[in-house]
Amino acid sequence: MMDEWSFGRASMRRLRRAVAYLWAFPATVVGLVFLPLAAPFGAGRVRWHSGVLELHGRAMAWFLKHLVPLAGGASAMTFGHVVIGRDARSLERSRFHERVHVRQYERWGLLFYPAYLSASLWLLIKGGDAYLENPFEREAYDAEASRRNGGA
Ligand SMILES: [Zn+2]
Repeated sequence: MMDEWSFGRASMRRLRRAVAYLWAFPATVVGLVFLPLAAPFGAGRVRWHSGVLELHGRAMAWFLKHLVPLAGGASAMTFGHVVIGRDARSLERSRFHERVHVRQYERWGLLFYPAYLSASLWLLIKGGDAYLENPFEREAYDAEASRRNGGA
């Protein structure tokens, strides 16, 4: 049986989740642009997984391979609560990393884009690695590393 206190805490948790989704929503809209490209929606190309809309398909594979300025392109990319991947396998493999970015969007909202891009630009100007040294990527890679080492 739920007493008033635990009911209050559960409500507060739901409210916080709702605010996180709303705050990240303008960034999520950018990801929703990819939704028609996942058609036909069969073969698991559109999937709701752990609170995130995951999309994959040939158009997304092409985008990630050719339009993401990384050597060899990216295997997946996060836009708010939307993650696009080249295929189901790349979504699976990158899930933990991309979920760190989802949490970053929940903190930064639409500001994630200018914050991420200006961090990369600053690193480029300084002669650093615009991707691996970007604080948003470092947080994601550090989380992956501590998970591998049995940490959080
Ligand atoms: Zn990343």
